[in-house]
Amino acid sequence: MSELSTPAQPPAGGSSKDSALEAVIGLEIHVQLATATKMFCGCELSFGEPPNTRTCPVCLGLPGSLPVANAKAIHFGLMIGLALGSELAPRSIFHRKNYFYPDLPKGYQISQYDEPLCLGGQLGDVRIHRVHLEEDAAKLIHLGASGRIHGSDASIVDFNRGGTPLAEIVTEPDLRSAEQAGVWLKLLRSTLRQLGVSDVNMEEGSLRCDANISLRPSGTSELGTKTELKNMNSFRFIERGIRAEIARQQKLIAEGGQVVQETLHFDPRPGAHPPITSLRSKEEAHDYRYFPEPDLLPVKIDDQMRSAAAAAMSELPADRAARLRAEHALSAESAELLGFRGELGDFFEAALAAGSEPPPPPQALANWLTGEVLARLGDGQDPAESQLSPPALATLVGMVAAKQVSVGAARQVLERLIAEGGEPQAIVAAEGLAAMDGGDELAGIVAAALAANADAATRVREGNAKAIGPIVGAVMRETKGRADGTEVSRLIHEQLGI
Ligand code: ADP
Ligand code: MG
Ligand code: ZN
Repeated sequence: MSELSTPAQPPAGGSSKDSALEAVIGLEIHVQLATATKMFCGCELSFGEPPNTRTCPVCLGLPGSLPVANAKAIHFGLMIGLALGSELAPRSIFHRKNYFYPDLPKGYQISQYDEPLCLGGQLGDVRIHRVHLEEDAAKLIHLGASGRIHGSDASIVDFNRGGTPLAEIVTEPDLRSAEQAGVWLKLLRSTLRQLGVSDVNMEEGSLRCDANISLRPSGTSELGTKTELKNMNSFRFIERGIRAEIARQQKLIAEGGQVVQETLHFDPRPGAHPPITSLRSKEEAHDYRYFPEPDLLPVKIDDQMRSAAAAAMSELPADRAARLRAEHALSAESAELLGFRGELGDFFEAALAAGSEPPPPPQALANWLTGEVLARLGDGQDPAESQLSPPALATLVGMVAAKQVSVGAARQVLERLIAEGGEPQAIVAAEGLAAMDGGDELAGIVAAALAANADAATRVREGNAKAIGPIVGAVMRETKGRADGTEVSRLIHEQLGI
Protein backbone atom coordinates (compact mmCIF):
# COMPACT_ATOMS: atom_id res chain seq x y z
CA MET A 1 0.00 0.00 0.00
CA SER A 2 3.04 2.24 0.00
CA GLU A 3 3.03 4.89 -2.69
CA LEU A 4 5.69 6.82 -0.85
CA SER A 5 9.14 7.27 -2.29
CA THR A 6 11.82 4.68 -1.66
CA PRO A 7 13.33 5.25 1.77
CA ALA A 8 16.82 6.69 1.86
CA GLN A 9 19.27 6.45 4.73
CA PRO A 10 20.26 9.65 6.45
CA PRO A 11 24.05 10.06 6.29
CA ALA A 12 25.60 7.74 8.82
CA GLY A 13 28.14 8.87 11.38
CA GLY A 14 29.64 12.20 10.35
CA SER A 15 29.18 15.13 12.65
CA SER A 16 26.46 13.17 14.50
CA LYS A 17 24.83 16.36 15.66
CA ASP A 18 21.33 15.42 16.80
CA SER A 19 20.00 18.78 15.74
CA ALA A 20 21.01 17.99 12.16
CA LEU A 21 18.39 15.22 11.97
CA GLU A 22 14.66 15.65 12.07
CA ALA A 23 12.10 13.03 13.02
CA VAL A 24 9.37 12.05 10.56
CA ILE A 25 6.32 10.28 11.96
CA GLY A 26 3.22 8.78 10.38
CA LEU A 27 0.47 7.11 12.40
CA GLU A 28 -1.82 4.16 11.75
CA ILE A 29 -4.79 4.25 14.09
CA HIS A 30 -7.19 1.38 14.64
CA VAL A 31 -10.59 2.42 15.90
CA GLN A 32 -13.10 -0.16 17.14
CA LEU A 33 -16.46 0.92 15.79
CA ALA A 34 -19.35 1.06 18.24
CA THR A 35 -21.77 -0.94 16.12
CA ALA A 36 -24.24 -3.36 17.70
CA THR A 37 -22.83 -6.35 15.85
CA LYS A 38 -19.58 -7.56 14.34
CA MET A 39 -18.15 -6.60 10.95
CA PHE A 40 -19.22 -9.66 8.98
CA CYS A 41 -21.65 -11.59 11.20
CA GLY A 42 -24.59 -11.01 13.52
CA CYS A 43 -22.72 -11.60 16.80
CA GLU A 44 -23.05 -8.77 19.29
CA LEU A 45 -19.87 -6.92 20.20
CA SER A 46 -18.36 -8.09 23.45
CA PHE A 47 -17.76 -6.06 26.60
CA GLY A 48 -16.15 -8.49 28.98
CA GLU A 49 -18.62 -11.35 28.60
CA PRO A 50 -17.34 -14.84 29.44
CA PRO A 51 -14.81 -15.96 26.81
CA ASN A 52 -16.08 -17.43 23.54
CA THR A 53 -19.75 -16.66 24.20
CA ARG A 54 -20.10 -14.12 21.37
CA THR A 55 -19.13 -16.27 18.45
CA CYS A 56 -20.69 -17.97 15.44
CA PRO A 57 -19.44 -20.01 12.50
CA VAL A 58 -18.52 -16.82 10.60
CA CYS A 59 -16.32 -15.19 13.24
CA LEU A 60 -14.88 -18.56 14.27
CA GLY A 61 -13.81 -19.02 10.65
CA LEU A 62 -15.60 -22.34 10.18
CA PRO A 63 -15.47 -23.70 6.63
CA GLY A 64 -18.50 -22.88 4.50
CA SER A 65 -19.65 -19.89 6.53
CA LEU A 66 -20.23 -16.69 4.61
CA PRO A 67 -19.56 -13.08 5.67
CA VAL A 68 -22.01 -10.21 5.16
CA ALA A 69 -20.71 -6.64 5.53
CA ASN A 70 -22.18 -4.60 8.37
CA ALA A 71 -24.04 -1.59 6.93
CA LYS A 72 -23.64 0.38 10.14
CA ALA A 73 -19.86 -0.06 10.06
CA ILE A 74 -19.80 1.27 6.50
CA HIS A 75 -21.98 4.18 7.62
CA PHE A 76 -19.57 4.94 10.50
CA GLY A 77 -16.63 4.66 8.09
CA LEU A 78 -18.26 7.25 5.84
CA MET A 79 -18.85 9.57 8.81
CA ILE A 80 -15.16 9.31 9.72
CA GLY A 81 -14.24 10.05 6.11
CA LEU A 82 -16.48 13.12 6.06
CA ALA A 83 -15.09 14.40 9.38
CA LEU A 84 -11.53 13.98 8.05
CA GLY A 85 -12.31 15.64 4.74
CA SER A 86 -11.64 12.44 2.79
CA GLU A 87 -13.00 11.56 -0.60
CA LEU A 88 -15.62 8.82 -0.17
CA ALA A 89 -14.83 6.22 -2.80
CA PRO A 90 -17.89 5.48 -4.94
CA ARG A 91 -16.74 1.86 -5.00
CA SER A 92 -14.47 -0.03 -2.64
CA ILE A 93 -13.73 -3.70 -2.15
CA PHE A 94 -12.58 -6.04 0.60
CA HIS A 95 -9.41 -8.09 0.34
CA ARG A 96 -8.09 -11.11 2.17
CA LYS A 97 -4.85 -10.41 4.00
CA ASN A 98 -3.34 -13.84 4.52
CA TYR A 99 -1.24 -14.77 7.50
CA PHE A 100 -1.28 -17.40 10.20
CA TYR A 101 -1.78 -16.51 13.84
CA PRO A 102 -3.78 -18.28 16.55
CA ASP A 103 -6.03 -15.22 16.96
CA LEU A 104 -7.06 -15.42 13.30
CA PRO A 105 -8.92 -18.69 12.74
CA LYS A 106 -9.60 -18.21 9.02
CA GLY A 107 -5.90 -17.79 8.25
CA TYR A 108 -6.68 -14.37 6.76
CA GLN A 109 -8.07 -11.06 7.90
CA ILE A 110 -10.74 -9.42 5.79
CA SER A 111 -9.43 -5.91 5.21
CA GLN A 112 -9.26 -3.37 2.42
CA TYR A 113 -6.22 -2.97 0.25
CA ASP A 114 -5.95 -0.92 -2.91
CA GLU A 115 -9.57 0.23 -3.08
CA PRO A 116 -10.32 1.57 0.42
CA LEU A 117 -13.52 3.25 1.58
CA CYS A 118 -12.06 6.76 1.98
CA LEU A 119 -9.08 8.45 0.35
CA GLY A 120 -7.05 11.49 1.40
CA GLY A 121 -8.16 14.21 3.74
CA GLN A 122 -6.72 16.36 6.48
CA LEU A 123 -7.20 16.86 10.21
CA GLY A 124 -5.47 19.83 11.77
CA ASP A 125 -1.96 20.01 10.31
CA VAL A 126 -1.77 16.34 9.30
CA ARG A 127 -2.85 14.94 5.96
CA ILE A 128 -4.82 11.71 5.92
CA HIS A 129 -3.66 9.01 3.51
CA ARG A 130 -6.70 6.76 3.69
CA VAL A 131 -9.39 5.24 5.89
CA HIS A 132 -10.41 1.63 5.44
CA LEU A 133 -12.55 -0.99 7.17
CA GLU A 134 -11.45 -4.35 8.48
CA GLU A 135 -12.15 -6.90 11.19
CA ASP A 136 -10.33 -7.16 14.52
CA ALA A 137 -8.49 -10.33 15.51
CA ALA A 138 -9.44 -12.42 18.53
CA LYS A 139 -7.67 -11.91 21.83
CA LEU A 140 -4.74 -14.06 22.90
CA ILE A 141 -4.25 -14.38 26.63
CA HIS A 142 -0.76 -15.43 27.62
CA LEU A 143 -1.03 -17.46 30.79
CA GLY A 144 2.63 -17.31 31.73
CA ALA A 145 3.67 -19.23 34.81
CA SER A 146 0.07 -19.71 35.91
CA GLY A 147 -0.83 -22.01 33.04
CA ARG A 148 2.02 -24.18 31.88
CA ILE A 149 1.24 -27.12 29.62
CA HIS A 150 3.85 -29.87 29.23
CA GLY A 151 6.34 -27.55 30.88
CA SER A 152 5.81 -24.65 28.45
CA ASP A 153 4.06 -21.32 28.88
CA ALA A 154 0.62 -21.55 27.30
CA SER A 155 -1.74 -19.06 25.70
CA ILE A 156 -5.49 -19.28 25.28
CA VAL A 157 -7.78 -17.55 22.79
CA ASP A 158 -10.97 -15.59 23.43
CA PHE A 159 -12.82 -15.23 20.13
CA ASN A 160 -15.33 -12.67 21.47
CA ARG A 161 -13.27 -9.79 20.02
CA GLY A 162 -12.65 -11.58 16.70
CA GLY A 163 -14.60 -9.86 13.93
CA THR A 164 -15.18 -6.56 15.77
CA PRO A 165 -15.38 -3.79 13.13
CA LEU A 166 -12.31 -1.58 12.86
CA ALA A 167 -11.69 1.57 10.92
CA GLU A 168 -8.00 2.02 10.18
CA ILE A 169 -6.94 5.60 9.70
CA VAL A 170 -3.55 6.09 8.05
CA THR A 171 -1.86 9.49 8.11
CA GLU A 172 0.75 10.88 5.79
CA PRO A 173 4.18 11.21 7.47
CA ASP A 174 3.48 14.80 8.51
CA LEU A 175 4.32 14.71 12.20
CA ARG A 176 7.73 15.85 13.46
CA SER A 177 7.84 15.12 17.18
CA ALA A 178 6.42 12.89 19.89
CA GLU A 179 4.62 15.84 21.47
CA GLN A 180 3.01 16.83 18.17
CA ALA A 181 1.87 13.23 17.67
CA GLY A 182 0.28 13.22 21.14
CA VAL A 183 -1.56 16.50 20.58
CA TRP A 184 -2.77 15.40 17.16
CA LEU A 185 -4.02 12.05 18.44
CA LYS A 186 -6.06 13.86 21.05
CA LEU A 187 -7.62 15.97 18.34
CA LEU A 188 -8.41 12.81 16.37
CA ARG A 189 -9.86 11.17 19.45
CA SER A 190 -12.17 14.10 20.26
CA THR A 191 -13.29 14.17 16.65
CA LEU A 192 -14.11 10.45 16.71
CA ARG A 193 -15.77 10.75 20.08
CA GLN A 194 -17.86 13.64 18.84
CA LEU A 195 -18.96 11.55 15.88
CA GLY A 196 -20.07 8.85 18.30
CA VAL A 197 -18.58 6.10 16.13
CA SER A 198 -16.37 4.60 18.84
CA ASP A 199 -15.68 4.53 22.58
CA VAL A 200 -12.15 5.71 21.70
CA ASN A 201 -10.74 4.34 24.93
CA MET A 202 -7.03 3.62 24.59
CA GLU A 203 -6.76 1.65 27.83
CA GLU A 204 -9.57 -0.67 26.76
CA GLY A 205 -8.16 -1.02 23.27
CA SER A 206 -10.92 0.65 21.30
CA LEU A 207 -8.32 3.14 20.02
CA ARG A 208 -4.89 1.72 19.19
CA CYS A 209 -1.99 3.39 17.50
CA ASP A 210 1.08 2.26 15.58
CA ALA A 211 3.75 4.89 14.99
CA ASN A 212 6.05 4.82 11.95
CA ILE A 213 9.25 6.70 12.67
CA SER A 214 12.27 7.70 10.64
CA LEU A 215 14.99 10.35 10.72
CA ARG A 216 16.38 12.48 7.94
CA PRO A 217 18.67 15.48 7.66
CA SER A 218 16.68 18.57 8.60
CA GLY A 219 15.54 20.55 5.61
CA THR A 220 15.58 17.61 3.19
CA SER A 221 12.47 16.01 1.77
CA GLU A 222 13.48 12.42 1.05
CA LEU A 223 12.18 9.96 3.64
CA GLY A 224 14.57 7.87 5.74
CA THR A 225 14.15 4.17 6.58
CA LYS A 226 11.31 3.80 9.04
CA THR A 227 10.56 1.49 11.89
CA GLU A 228 7.08 0.74 13.17
CA LEU A 229 6.23 0.86 16.89
CA LYS A 230 3.27 -1.44 17.42
CA ASN A 231 0.04 -1.09 19.33
CA MET A 232 0.62 1.47 21.99
CA ASN A 233 -2.37 1.81 24.23
CA SER A 234 -2.05 5.03 26.18
CA PHE A 235 -1.20 8.59 25.25
CA ARG A 236 1.68 8.68 27.69
CA PHE A 237 3.18 5.50 26.28
CA ILE A 238 2.82 6.72 22.71
CA GLU A 239 4.75 9.90 23.39
CA ARG A 240 7.36 8.10 25.47
CA GLY A 241 7.65 5.29 22.93
CA ILE A 242 8.16 7.68 20.01
CA ARG A 243 10.71 9.65 22.01
CA ALA A 244 12.61 6.48 22.91
CA GLU A 245 12.63 5.29 19.29
CA ILE A 246 13.84 8.65 17.99
CA ALA A 247 16.65 8.53 20.56
CA ARG A 248 17.52 4.95 19.58
CA GLN A 249 17.74 5.86 15.87
CA GLN A 250 19.77 8.99 16.62
CA LYS A 251 22.27 7.01 18.65
CA LEU A 252 22.47 4.27 16.04
CA ILE A 253 23.18 6.75 13.27
CA ALA A 254 25.65 8.71 15.41
CA GLU A 255 27.58 5.49 15.97
CA GLY A 256 27.77 4.89 12.24
CA GLY A 257 25.00 2.29 12.08
CA GLN A 258 21.98 2.04 9.79
CA VAL A 259 18.32 1.94 10.71
CA VAL A 260 16.79 -1.38 9.68
CA GLN A 261 13.15 -1.50 8.61
CA GLU A 262 11.46 -3.54 11.32
CA THR A 263 8.48 -3.81 13.63
CA LEU A 264 9.22 -2.81 17.21
CA HIS A 265 7.72 -3.11 20.65
CA PHE A 266 7.94 -0.43 23.31
CA ASP A 267 8.04 -1.59 26.91
CA PRO A 268 6.61 1.25 29.01
CA ARG A 269 7.92 -0.07 32.33
CA PRO A 270 10.35 2.49 33.80
CA GLY A 271 13.17 0.01 34.32
CA ALA A 272 12.86 -1.69 30.92
CA HIS A 273 16.27 -2.23 29.26
CA PRO A 274 16.18 -1.79 26.41
CA PRO A 275 12.78 -0.08 26.22
CA ILE A 276 12.57 -0.84 22.49
CA THR A 277 12.83 -4.40 21.19
CA SER A 278 12.35 -5.96 17.77
CA LEU A 279 9.19 -8.00 17.19
CA ARG A 280 9.95 -9.09 13.66
CA SER A 281 11.48 -7.84 10.46
CA LYS A 282 8.97 -5.74 8.58
CA GLU A 283 6.68 -7.72 6.35
CA GLU A 284 5.93 -6.36 2.88
CA ALA A 285 2.49 -6.18 1.31
CA HIS A 286 3.35 -9.08 -1.01
CA ASP A 287 4.01 -11.29 2.01
CA TYR A 288 0.29 -11.21 2.71
CA ARG A 289 -0.78 -12.48 -0.72
CA TYR A 290 -3.64 -10.02 -0.79
CA PHE A 291 -6.48 -11.00 -3.10
CA PRO A 292 -10.06 -9.75 -3.46
CA GLU A 293 -12.48 -11.38 -1.00
CA PRO A 294 -14.63 -13.57 -3.24
CA ASP A 295 -17.44 -13.92 -0.69
CA LEU A 296 -18.24 -10.20 -0.44
CA LEU A 297 -19.74 -7.79 -2.94
CA PRO A 298 -18.00 -4.51 -3.71
CA VAL A 299 -19.23 -1.65 -1.52
CA LYS A 300 -21.02 0.92 -3.65
CA ILE A 301 -21.59 4.26 -1.98
CA ASP A 302 -24.63 6.06 -3.36
CA ASP A 303 -26.05 9.51 -2.66
CA GLN A 304 -28.42 8.18 -0.06
CA MET A 305 -25.57 6.66 1.97
CA ARG A 306 -23.57 9.87 1.66
CA SER A 307 -26.40 12.03 2.84
CA ALA A 308 -27.24 9.62 5.66
CA ALA A 309 -23.62 9.87 6.86
CA ALA A 310 -23.66 13.67 6.55
CA ALA A 311 -26.97 13.90 8.41
CA ALA A 312 -25.68 11.71 11.24
CA MET A 313 -22.60 13.86 11.78
CA SER A 314 -22.70 15.05 15.32
CA GLU A 315 -23.08 18.62 16.24
CA LEU A 316 -20.31 20.94 15.17
CA PRO A 317 -18.45 22.70 17.96
CA ALA A 318 -20.13 26.07 17.43
CA ASP A 319 -23.58 24.46 17.48
CA ARG A 320 -22.74 22.62 20.63
CA ALA A 321 -21.60 25.80 22.36
CA ALA A 322 -24.86 27.51 21.43
CA ARG A 323 -26.91 24.58 22.65
CA LEU A 324 -25.05 24.26 25.96
CA ARG A 325 -25.46 27.98 26.53
CA ALA A 326 -29.20 27.86 25.86
CA GLU A 327 -29.90 24.63 27.74
CA HIS A 328 -27.92 25.41 30.88
CA ALA A 329 -27.78 29.21 30.96
CA LEU A 330 -23.99 29.12 30.82
CA SER A 331 -21.81 32.14 30.25
CA ALA A 332 -20.70 32.57 26.65
CA GLU A 333 -17.11 31.90 27.66
CA SER A 334 -17.90 28.61 29.43
CA ALA A 335 -20.18 27.41 26.64
CA GLU A 336 -17.50 28.06 24.03
CA LEU A 337 -14.84 26.24 26.00
CA LEU A 338 -17.09 23.21 26.49
CA GLY A 339 -18.31 23.24 22.90
CA PHE A 340 -14.96 23.66 21.22
CA ARG A 341 -13.14 21.17 23.36
CA GLY A 342 -15.32 18.17 22.80
CA GLU A 343 -13.76 16.17 25.63
CA LEU A 344 -14.68 18.93 28.10
CA GLY A 345 -18.21 19.17 26.72
CA ASP A 346 -18.54 15.40 26.98
CA PHE A 347 -17.30 15.39 30.57
CA PHE A 348 -19.65 18.24 31.46
CA GLU A 349 -22.68 16.59 29.88
CA ALA A 350 -21.85 13.20 31.40
CA ALA A 351 -21.56 14.86 34.83
CA LEU A 352 -24.94 16.57 34.48
CA ALA A 353 -26.53 13.38 33.20
CA ALA A 354 -25.30 11.45 36.25
CA GLY A 355 -28.26 12.77 38.24
CA SER A 356 -26.16 13.11 41.38
CA GLU A 357 -27.50 14.43 44.67
CA PRO A 358 -27.36 17.23 45.57
CA PRO A 359 -27.50 18.43 41.94
CA PRO A 360 -24.63 20.63 40.74
CA PRO A 361 -25.61 24.05 39.37
CA PRO A 362 -24.47 23.89 35.70
CA GLN A 363 -22.45 27.10 35.73
CA ALA A 364 -20.67 26.04 38.92
CA LEU A 365 -19.96 22.66 37.35
CA ALA A 366 -18.53 24.34 34.25
CA ASN A 367 -16.37 26.60 36.44
CA TRP A 368 -14.98 23.72 38.47
CA LEU A 369 -14.28 21.68 35.35
CA THR A 370 -12.60 24.38 33.29
CA GLY A 371 -10.96 26.03 36.33
CA GLU A 372 -10.02 23.81 39.24
CA VAL A 373 -9.87 20.53 37.33
CA LEU A 374 -7.90 21.74 34.31
CA ALA A 375 -5.52 23.69 36.54
CA ARG A 376 -4.64 20.44 38.28
CA LEU A 377 -4.43 18.29 35.15
CA GLY A 378 -2.51 20.80 33.10
CA ASP A 379 -4.17 22.67 30.27
CA GLY A 380 -4.94 20.64 27.16
CA GLN A 381 -5.41 17.45 29.17
CA ASP A 382 -8.56 15.38 28.92
CA PRO A 383 -10.22 14.95 32.33
CA ALA A 384 -11.53 11.57 31.18
CA GLU A 385 -7.90 10.39 31.16
CA SER A 386 -7.62 11.07 34.89
CA GLN A 387 -9.12 9.05 37.74
CA LEU A 388 -11.83 11.69 38.22
CA SER A 389 -15.22 10.48 36.99
CA PRO A 390 -17.97 12.81 35.75
CA PRO A 391 -20.45 11.66 38.46
CA ALA A 392 -17.82 12.26 41.16
CA LEU A 393 -17.24 15.83 40.01
CA ALA A 394 -21.00 16.41 39.79
CA THR A 395 -21.46 15.19 43.36
CA LEU A 396 -18.59 17.31 44.67
CA VAL A 397 -19.86 20.50 43.02
CA GLY A 398 -23.36 19.72 44.28
CA MET A 399 -22.00 19.31 47.82
CA VAL A 400 -20.24 22.69 47.59
CA ALA A 401 -23.42 24.34 46.34
CA ALA A 402 -25.40 22.77 49.20
CA LYS A 403 -22.71 23.95 51.65
CA GLN A 404 -21.99 20.38 52.72
CA VAL A 405 -18.30 21.09 52.12
CA SER A 406 -16.41 24.36 51.98
CA VAL A 407 -14.63 25.37 48.80
CA GLY A 408 -11.30 24.79 50.50
CA ALA A 409 -12.22 21.28 51.59
CA ALA A 410 -13.67 20.52 48.16
CA ARG A 411 -10.31 21.43 46.60
CA GLN A 412 -8.64 18.85 48.84
CA VAL A 413 -11.23 16.24 47.85
CA LEU A 414 -10.68 17.08 44.18
CA GLU A 415 -6.93 16.46 44.53
CA ARG A 416 -7.73 13.00 45.82
CA LEU A 417 -10.35 12.29 43.14
CA ILE A 418 -7.93 13.24 40.37
CA ALA A 419 -5.09 11.19 41.80
CA GLU A 420 -6.94 8.12 43.02
CA GLY A 421 -10.57 8.27 41.92
CA GLY A 422 -13.29 7.36 44.40
CA GLU A 423 -16.46 8.94 45.73
CA PRO A 424 -16.49 12.47 47.18
CA GLN A 425 -18.89 11.55 49.99
CA ALA A 426 -16.64 8.70 51.12
CA ILE A 427 -13.50 10.87 51.01
CA VAL A 428 -15.23 13.67 52.94
CA ALA A 429 -16.33 11.18 55.60
CA ALA A 430 -12.96 9.42 55.82
CA GLU A 431 -10.97 12.66 56.03
CA GLY A 432 -13.38 14.49 58.33
CA LEU A 433 -13.78 17.25 55.75
CA ALA A 434 -17.51 17.87 56.16
CA ALA A 435 -18.42 21.50 56.48
CA MET A 436 -18.76 22.71 60.05
CA ASP A 437 -22.25 23.89 60.66
CA GLY A 438 -22.01 27.35 62.15
CA GLY A 439 -22.58 25.96 65.68
CA ASP A 440 -20.75 26.39 68.96
CA GLU A 441 -17.52 24.77 67.81
CA LEU A 442 -17.02 27.28 64.99
CA ALA A 443 -18.09 30.19 67.23
CA GLY A 444 -15.41 29.10 69.73
CA ILE A 445 -12.72 28.95 67.04
CA VAL A 446 -13.72 32.42 65.82
CA ALA A 447 -13.53 33.79 69.37
CA ALA A 448 -10.03 32.32 69.79
CA ALA A 449 -8.93 33.80 66.45
CA LEU A 450 -10.22 37.22 67.46
CA ALA A 451 -8.33 36.99 70.75
CA ALA A 452 -5.13 35.93 69.00
CA ASN A 453 -5.44 38.75 66.44
CA ALA A 454 -6.52 41.56 68.72
CA ASP A 455 -4.91 44.31 66.60
CA ALA A 456 -6.68 43.16 63.46
CA ALA A 457 -9.94 42.84 65.38
CA THR A 458 -9.64 46.45 66.53
CA ARG A 459 -9.03 47.67 63.00
CA VAL A 460 -12.03 45.75 61.67
CA ARG A 461 -14.16 47.28 64.39
CA GLU A 462 -12.83 50.71 63.33
CA GLY A 463 -14.09 50.10 59.82
CA ASN A 464 -11.02 48.64 58.04
CA ALA A 465 -12.72 45.79 56.17
CA LYS A 466 -9.46 44.38 54.80
CA ALA A 467 -8.10 43.74 58.26
CA ILE A 468 -10.46 40.75 58.53
CA GLY A 469 -8.05 38.69 56.36
CA PRO A 470 -5.69 37.37 59.07
CA ILE A 471 -8.63 36.52 61.34
CA VAL A 472 -10.38 34.48 58.65
CA GLY A 473 -7.02 32.92 57.81
CA ALA A 474 -6.53 31.82 61.41
CA VAL A 475 -10.00 30.23 61.51
CA MET A 476 -9.37 28.41 58.24
CA ARG A 477 -6.03 27.08 59.47
CA GLU A 478 -7.63 25.87 62.67
CA THR A 479 -10.54 24.20 60.81
CA LYS A 480 -8.31 22.87 58.01
CA GLY A 481 -10.45 24.75 55.51
CA ARG A 482 -13.70 23.05 56.51
CA ALA A 483 -15.47 26.23 57.62
CA ASP A 484 -17.66 28.14 55.21
CA GLY A 485 -16.07 31.52 54.47
CA THR A 486 -19.35 33.46 54.53
CA GLU A 487 -20.32 31.94 57.86
CA VAL A 488 -16.90 32.73 59.38
CA SER A 489 -17.17 36.34 58.28
CA ARG A 490 -20.72 36.56 59.70
CA LEU A 491 -19.55 35.18 63.07
CA ILE A 492 -16.61 37.60 63.21
CA HIS A 493 -18.92 40.55 62.64
CA GLU A 494 -21.39 39.17 65.17
CA GLN A 495 -18.75 38.70 67.86
CA LEU A 496 -17.25 42.13 67.20
CA GLY A 497 -20.72 43.59 67.55
CA ILE A 498 -20.68 45.26 64.15
P1 ADP B 1 3.76 0.15 4.95
O1 ADP B 1 3.44 -0.33 3.59
O2 ADP B 1 5.12 -0.18 5.43
O3 ADP B 1 2.69 -0.11 5.97
P2 ADP B 1 2.84 2.76 4.24
O4 ADP B 1 3.44 3.49 3.12
O5 ADP B 1 1.53 2.13 4.07
O6 ADP B 1 3.89 1.73 4.80
O7 ADP B 1 2.77 3.77 5.45
C1 ADP B 1 2.35 3.36 6.69
C2 ADP B 1 2.51 4.55 7.61
O8 ADP B 1 3.87 4.90 7.74
C3 ADP B 1 1.82 5.81 7.15
O9 ADP B 1 1.27 6.46 8.28
C4 ADP B 1 2.94 6.64 6.58
O10 ADP B 1 2.67 8.01 6.71
C5 ADP B 1 4.10 6.25 7.43
N1 ADP B 1 5.39 6.33 6.78
C6 ADP B 1 5.70 5.85 5.57
N2 ADP B 1 7.02 6.05 5.31
C7 ADP B 1 7.53 6.66 6.40
C8 ADP B 1 8.83 7.13 6.77
N3 ADP B 1 9.87 6.97 5.95
N4 ADP B 1 8.99 7.70 7.97
C9 ADP B 1 7.95 7.83 8.80
N5 ADP B 1 6.72 7.43 8.53
C10 ADP B 1 6.50 6.84 7.33
MG1 MG C 1 1.12 -0.47 7.30
ZN1 ZN D 1 -20.01 -14.19 14.76
